[in-house]
Amino acid sequence: GMFRSVEEPLFAAYCTGNAPEVMKELRSDKLSLVQCAPAVRTAIGEDFGMPAGSLTPGKMAAALRRLGFDRVYDTNFAADLTIMEEGNELLSRISNGETLPMFTSCCPAWVRFMELNYPDLLGHLSSCKSPQQMSGALFKTYGADIDNRKPEEIFSVSVMPCTCKKYESSRPEMKNNGLRDVDAVITTRELGYMIKEAGIDFTTLPAEDFDRPLGTYTGAGNIFGVTGGVMEAALRTACELVTGKPVPETDLIFVRGEAGMRTASMDMNGTTFRVAVVAGLTNAIALLEKVRTGKAEVDFVEVMCCPSGCISGGGQPKVLLPADRENVYRCRKQSMYSHDQNIKIRKSHENPDVQKVYADFLGEPLGHTSHKLLHTSYDRKDC
Ligand code: SF4
Repeated sequence: GMFRSVEEPLFAAYCTGNAPEVMKELRSDKLSLVQCAPAVRTAIGEDFGMPAGSLTPGKMAAALRRLGFDRVYDTNFAADLTIMEEGNELLSRISNGETLPMFTSCCPAWVRFMELNYPDLLGHLSSCKSPQQMSGALFKTYGADIDNRKPEEIFSVSVMPCTCKKYESSRPEMKNNGLRDVDAVITTRELGYMIKEAGIDFTTLPAEDFDRPLGTYTGAGNIFGVTGGVMEAALRTACELVTGKPVPETDLIFVRGEAGMRTASMDMNGTTFRVAVVAGLTNAIALLEKVRTGKAEVDFVEVMCCPSGCISGGGQPKVLLPADRENVYRCRKQSMYSHDQNIKIRKSHENPDVQKVYADFLGEPLGHTSHKLLHTSYDRKDC
C-alpha cells in the first residue's frame, strides 16, 4: 500500500509470547510489580468460558497475586496521571499559541505510523508517554522507594490488550537512567495462558483489590480502554480546570459512539474546545491531510488504531466467529462504561493517590520530574 506500517514480526502473536520469560523472572529475587491495562479486565474472563463483557478486575488482581507478583498495580492509575499531564499540556499549548491540534500519544501503533508517514506533523503529538510507560517509570522510582528497593531490583511487567505495546516498551527512549520503564509485556491471552499453566481456577477466584497507591483508579482512567474514552476523561478534567466548577454532566456521551471519526465541541467559560475522536488509521489520514493544509478546525484529537479502541486490541482473547465480533466488542465496551459509572470517583484529578504522587514526588503537572519521567519525544526513524 501507500503507507508503511510497523514491520510484521512485531505483530506476531505466539501462543505463549513473553509468558515463559515472565514466569522465570517471577522466581528471581527481584521485586515484581505488575500493571494491567483497562481493557484486560473486561475480556480476560472470556478465556475461561465467561460471557463476553464479564468484568473481572478483582479476579484478575487475585490471579496475578497467586502467580507471584509482589505488587498488583494498575495502568488505570497512570491513565489518570496521563489526563493530568496531557490536559495541562493542551491548556498550555492553547494559552501559549503553540502547535495545535494536539494528538494523543497513548497508542504506539499510531505514534509509529506518524513517525513513518507524517514526520512533518510530529509536533502535533502530545509529549506524554503512554500510561503503560508512565506506570513503568514510576515503578522504578516512586514504586521502588515504597518497598525500599533499588530501581535495578524491580521487575516491571505490564498486561496489555495490545501486541504493539511490546514494541513500545522496547523503544530506546523508554528508559530512565539506563533502565527500561517496562521490562516485559504480556498480552491478555498470554496472561490467560499463565493462569491456566499455573492451575489456577480463574472463575472461582475471590475479587481482590489492587495495591495502593499505584493501583488506585477513577472511572475516567478506566474508559481509556474504549474509543472516545481518553477524550471523555480529558474533557471531564479540562472543563473543571478551566471553569473552576464541576462539569455539568459526568457522562459526556457526545464523544461516545461507533463511527470511526466523530467531532464535537464543548464550551468552557466562553471558550469553545473543538475535539475529534478517531478510530482506525484510514480515518486519521483524512484528518492529517487537513492538518497539513491548515484546514483542520479542531484543537484536540484522540486517535486509536483499533476499531473500538483497546478493547478490540490484537492481544485480547480471540473472537472465534467473525460474525460475533461486533457483538463481543459491544459487550466489552458496555462493561467499560458500567465500571466507570460504578466507581465512586469518576474524574482523574480527584484520584487521591494521583494527588499524593504529585504532593510527595512529582511536584506539579509538566514540572521537572514529570518532564523527565513521564514525557518523551518522537523522532526515531531507525527502529
Ligand atoms: Fe494497541 Fe489497538 Fe489500543 Fe492502539 S488501539 S494501543 S494498537 S490495542
